[in-house]
Amino acid sequence: MSRSPIRQQFPILNQMMGSYPLCYLDNAATSQKPERVIQAMDDYYRRYNANVHRGSYQLSATATSAFEAVRRQLQQFIHAAHPQEVIFTRGTTEALNLLAYGLNKHIKPGDRILVDSTAHHANLVPWQQLALRSGAELIAIPLTDELRLDRQALRTLLQLPTRLVALNHVSNVLGTVNDIAALAQEIRAAGAICVVDGAQAIGHLPVDVQQLGCDFYAFSGHKMYGPTGVGVLWGRLPLLATLEPMLTGGEMIKTVSFTHTEFGELPFRLEAGTPPIAEVIGLGAAIDFLNSVDRNNAQQQEQQLLQQLQQQLAALPGITLYGAHADNRGAIAFNLAGEHHQDVGILLDQQSVAIRCGHHCAMPLMDAMGLKGCCRVSLGIYSNADDITRFIQALRTTITLLT
Ligand code: PLP
Repeated sequence: MSRSPIRQQFPILNQMMGSYPLCYLDNAATSQKPERVIQAMDDYYRRYNANVHRGSYQLSATATSAFEAVRRQLQQFIHAAHPQEVIFTRGTTEALNLLAYGLNKHIKPGDRILVDSTAHHANLVPWQQLALRSGAELIAIPLTDELRLDRQALRTLLQLPTRLVALNHVSNVLGTVNDIAALAQEIRAAGAICVVDGAQAIGHLPVDVQQLGCDFYAFSGHKMYGPTGVGVLWGRLPLLATLEPMLTGGEMIKTVSFTHTEFGELPFRLEAGTPPIAEVIGLGAAIDFLNSVDRNNAQQQEQQLLQQLQQQLAALPGITLYGAHADNRGAIAFNLAGEHHQDVGILLDQQSVAIRCGHHCAMPLMDAMGLKGCCRVSLGIYSNADDITRFIQALRTTITLLT
């Protein structure tokens, strides 16, 4: 396999799986990590491991400044107005749970919460739980026949008073992209809070939260070449300040007595307990990595590869693609007629091609498509033409074996 300067930075891609080089096409589940991310975490543990924000000694001050520097890096990366708008979480799932819990007192019985039908369970179940707790009504935003969000149906839904709309930026199953800037404008004009799950967008699209115009945006470090166990909830400062903390305890307080606790200021108020320090530092290194490449160019190349892959897949016998559009990002969903998706995945794995098969944590989307599951192939910044050739060859072999 050819080793571009980007690819060379990812040690895992340099290995053989049995007699084949690894062909990793499950980037929507998690991306691989460049050497500098691995080294940054190693360096923290070897040279300046200490808890942040509390130490009166040099080592803790070093750890704290490295940790807080990443908050400012993230502020720039997503173009947040203030560093306090960047709340560290353990991932998208925790960010959205923290938000849904934090909004408890904003949601009243009978309030309407609209959720994108392509939502990952992480952007559905917390809203469902909030609706159950508060007596609010949870409503699915329908999809068009092309499996895009139905804008007209959303407009109709927004004609009735609505408290919150939870959208996907990029679908983790189909790769379809929502035009958040346009949708957020309509949603906020209707008086609703606009929440966006950016887990699949953050590694594939430039994300400028002020330009997107939503109220909250959540993402995970491990889908943007950073470590697992760290993520971000971004929110507009005045709204963030009204959230009830989901976790209480250390770090997030101003004063505590046995009769009363006064919570601290943002961002700490929403970051109880020791944060994932090494992971935050690793995420900073992932941003350094992304800033070191020509991201526009890399994203264009990735999209061209995705389009080639869509075309080559569609030309194979028995293959059905779902919601495949030229402007999709990152992922393609497909099935082989008459065959179980897991069988396809297992046979590809035997040829060292890693893809994902199943419901992809999007069971309502599977129901809308009338499927139990499907195969998903997903690209990363290091994916190249060899990966596509390997995958298509392996899928041809799989088709011959199964049909
Ligand atoms: N939302 C989307 C669209 C995802 O693809 C994922 C993970 O696959 C998540 C949320 C959950 O992310 P995490 O498991 O990192 O919390």
